[in-house]
Amino acid sequence: MRVEVARHAGVCYGVERALRLAQEASEQGVEVHTLGPLIHNPQAVAALKDKGVDVASSLDEVDDGILVVRSHGVDPAIIEEAVKRGLDVVDATCPFVSAAHTCAEELANGGYSVIIVGEEDHPEVEGILAHAGRSALIVQSAVDLPAKLPARKIGVVVQTTQSLSRLEEVVSALLPRVSELRVCNTICSATAKRQLSAEELALTVDAVVVVGGHNSGNTARLAEICRAVNPRVHHVETADEVDPAWFDGLESVGVTAGASTPDAQMAGVVEAIKGMG
Ligand code: SF4
Repeated sequence: MRVEVARHAGVCYGVERALRLAQEASEQGVEVHTLGPLIHNPQAVAALKDKGVDVASSLDEVDDGILVVRSHGVDPAIIEEAVKRGLDVVDATCPFVSAAHTCAEELANGGYSVIIVGEEDHPEVEGILAHAGRSALIVQSAVDLPAKLPARKIGVVVQTTQSLSRLEEVVSALLPRVSELRVCNTICSATAKRQLSAEELALTVDAVVVVGGHNSGNTARLAEICRAVNPRVHHVETADEVDPAWFDGLESVGVTAGASTPDAQMAGVVEAIKGMG
């Protein structure tokens, strides 16, 4: 059985940077905390915990030491509060996420009512919302658009890991309903490349295995994109979850991985599948 890996797959620049900054912080000999898991990958978060990087659910749980802001970014009020409480802040916000913050702010300052295309409860979207002005709305798809829009002048910004087709769908639905529409395509290039490569791969193989946290939105989106063109798609976190029965009678399997999936995790799954063929 042929096993093919997507041209662009696995850990991205922003996640690698966040992992490196957290690792460096853990070597300072003080307490290190993240607000929520550093990345949406339970195995990587567990490995960080072994190095002394603790996950806090709110600032109230952190008395001392270093606070690492995740690649998803946060509401700037949280950073201000952390500094006020005497914590050392290491800002690992991905530059692509910071660009989405800047776009949201520019749209709001330019008098646009902002619509954010993204997942309502996702920490990155909460951070963008904090920059997007009081009338900002979050929609996951065109069906979430309200019957009455807040204004005729609308600005759109998008969660960095959304799919282009989702953004296009919302923009097309808005266009006939507004007098002015400004769109910031803040989908990051790492996401766009991984999504495109995943789709290309899914079109040419008999089955696809997508590797990454079950809680990872960008990994789930890769699986969704593959499923749209290939019915045999399996989302796993680790090699232990791979079932040899999935590949009975197949000639080829494609493997891709989300931007928050460490290389070793993807390599483990590739090796496991090769051993089954
Ligand atoms: S997926 Fe894109 S925005 Fe998110 S951390 Fe990676 S590079 Fe940054």
